[in-house]
Amino acid sequence: MPDNRALVLFSGGQDSATCLAWALDRFDYVETIGFDYRQRHRAELDARHDFRQGLEAAFPAWAAKLGSDRVLDLSVLGEISETALTRDVEIVAEASGLPNTFVPGRNIMFLTLAAAVAYRRGLKYVVTGVCETDYSGYPDCRDDTVKAVQVALNLGMESRFVLETPLMWIDKAQTWSLAERLGGQTLTDLIRDRTLTCYQGDTSTKNEWGRGCGTCPACQLRENGHTKFKAERAR
Ligand code: ZN
Repeated sequence: MPDNRALVLFSGGQDSATCLAWALDRFDYVETIGFDYRQRHRAELDARHDFRQGLEAAFPAWAAKLGSDRVLDLSVLGEISETALTRDVEIVAEASGLPNTFVPGRNIMFLTLAAAVAYRRGLKYVVTGVCETDYSGYPDCRDDTVKAVQVALNLGMESRFVLETPLMWIDKAQTWSLAERLGGQTLTDLIRDRTLTCYQGDTSTKNEWGRGCGTCPACQLRENGHTKFKAERAR
C-alpha cells in the first residue's frame, strides 16, 4: 500500500473538518467518507458538501490532493439504536452516566467500514476526529478503543492500516489553534461558517463560534472551546 494516501472520516462537524485539513497538509492524496445513519438532522450532511467546496476554492494546493467523497447508507444504525441523535427525544444523561446521544458501537462500525473502503482504494491512513480530552464521554472515542480496533482490522484484513487521531489529546481550543496553524484565518472562518456540530441541526442561528442553537451539549462544547481559543490568542 502506498505510504502517502489517506481516508478521512468526515461528518461535516468542526473536528472532522480540522482533520481533513490536517490530512491534506500531510498526505499526497486524500479521500473522504461520511455516514448517513438517518441522523435527525440532515443539515450535517449538507455541511460536508459546503465545507469541501469552500476548501477547494480557498486552498488550490489542497484541492489538487482532494479525491472522491462517498456517503455510506447506515440507516441500520438508526434502526437498532434508540438515541437522541436518531429519535426526536430530549438529550439527557442516562443511568450509565452516558448521554443518550451515545450511539452504541457507532465509531467502531464507522472505522470498520472506512477500513473496508480504504482496503479497496489503497488508502493506508484512516483519519478520525475522535478525542479523549473534552469529549462527550463516549467510550468508543477513547485512544484504547481506537488502538484495539486498529489491531483487529489489521489482523482481520491482513493489512497495515494506521488509524490516525490528530485530535485525541487536544481540547476544543487547541483544535481551533490547529486549524489556524494549518490554514490561517481563511480556514478558521471556513470552519466557523460551513461546519455544523449542533445536535439540534440549527443552521439559522449565527454565533461568533459558528452556526448552532447555542444550548445543546455540542454547541456548548464548541462555544467554550472558541472562547478559550480567543482568550489565549489575545494574551
Ligand atoms: Zn446546538
